[in-house]
Amino acid sequence: MAQTLSTLAYLVASVLFILALRGLSNPETSRQGNLFGMVGMAIAIVATLLKPGMGAGGIVIVLAGLAIGGTIGTVLAQRIQMTSLPQLVAAFHSLVGMAAVFVAAAAFYSPESFGIGTVGNIKGASLVEMSLGLAIGAITFSGSVIAFAKLDGRMSGSPIIFKGQHMLNAALGALLLVLVIAFVITGSPVLFWLIALLSFALGFLLIIPIGGADMPVVVSMLNSYSGWAAAGIGFTIGNLLLIVTGALVGASGAILSYIMCKGMNRSIINVLLGGFGGDSGAAAGPGAGTADRAPVKAGSPEDAAYIMKNAQKIIIVPGYGMAVAQAQQVVREMADLLKKEGAEISYAIHPVAGRMPGHMNVLLAEANVPYDEVHELEEINAEFADADVAYVIGANDVTNPAAKTDKSSAIYGMPILDVERAKTVFFVKRGMASGYAGVENELFFRPNTMMLFGDAKKVTQQIVQSLQK
Ligand code: NDP
Repeated sequence: MAQTLSTLAYLVASVLFILALRGLSNPETSRQGNLFGMVGMAIAIVATLLKPGMGAGGIVIVLAGLAIGGTIGTVLAQRIQMTSLPQLVAAFHSLVGMAAVFVAAAAFYSPESFGIGTVGNIKGASLVEMSLGLAIGAITFSGSVIAFAKLDGRMSGSPIIFKGQHMLNAALGALLLVLVIAFVITGSPVLFWLIALLSFALGFLLIIPIGGADMPVVVSMLNSYSGWAAAGIGFTIGNLLLIVTGALVGASGAILSYIMCKGMNRSIINVLLGGFGGDSGAAAGPGAGTADRAPVKAGSPEDAAYIMKNAQKIIIVPGYGMAVAQAQQVVREMADLLKKEGAEISYAIHPVAGRMPGHMNVLLAEANVPYDEVHELEEINAEFADADVAYVIGANDVTNPAAKTDKSSAIYGMPILDVERAKTVFFVKRGMASGYAGVENELFFRPNTMMLFGDAKKVTQQIVQSLQK
């Protein structure tokens, strides 16, 4: 009876997780989606605590884990800046990977506890599931640690490439497969730990060649890996909810990675295999054709306000700098004033603008920007040609034409917002620094560009003041 109830509760939790993912796919339903996820997780925890055979000791351990993990998570969530979320997510993925390694080790050394055999005599199927969970978990752990270090600026974001790298990865991958087969046949502890070590090394080697602009795809790929690791471990320990949740995370992460790869014009195989076959030798640096540049034209917020007051069609292009400056609210105020002047306002969102998928959508929703004014790259790119003004606020890489013209550039092939086709382009940023990918943006030197140097929020506030005069 208790077992049936717990299975039923797990089923309800699984359905809630599916509804959560569905809700999160749209800004309008995302709050509700979050709520479904939280209720699902609460049901899952209670059902786990009430599981037959849990015992007082088990309950204490789960509650202690919840208290420690929950406290750390709450403190981190309260302190973290939204712009640092990608590295936090990468760090959390590493914990999921490590947890999978620990659970695999627990199941290997105490198979009786999980009903999968006895020490030295574990069922073949369980050894297969265990070794897969172990390998994917270890790859996720070390890969996520590198992703964290790159995203947090503790390690250079440039690709680390050496001769024979792809051959080495391929050879290690083949060796891993051989070790897994040998482990399933023999159940040897030495092979168990060799699989773990080799997988840690592979995770490290797969992520180091990934360059700055491709990190978003990597983060979502690691998210997917962490899901598959959890699902593998769910099979080992016979936990239905872990299998379902792991598969959900694995599949949704894989779909997101695929969508992002398509959006960024990258091959998913490249990302999966750590840049295999890609022209990853591209170094970050000044784009081609920047030799004979015109001088940079800088303007004041008052100049910008005057030009925008007389504009019919304005496209706002937000980027990472808007998030840093927390300028979304004042951007909406500016848009409201310009609408009163008769201008048509739209927002252009690049799939990797900011530092996490959907970053700009979240910020604009927070500032109550109407959803129908917010457009994805492919919907709006053709509109720049008719726009009087492109107001680029804290965005850089996502507008850089080097992605179209400079084959040696780290961002070559990535689709970009064609802001330069607008009559006037304002770039609101503090100086001439390049963006995340480290590639210089030749648009700053174009005759139809006016740089508005300063903090995104302050500059936009000054424009608002001028518009109000
Ligand atoms: P970029 O990183 O290309 O550029 C941001 C610009 O904002 C900088 O050039 C900086 O210039 C400016 N800036 C920073 N702070 C401020 C401020 N307070 N006020 C005004 N400007 C400021 O951002 P994009 O959004 O264009 O592109 C995103 C990049 O991040 C892409 O390369 C993407 O691949 C990468 N990325 C994206 C992730 C995602 O999931 N979306 C995750 C990880 C990486 P200055 O210093 O001169 O002010």
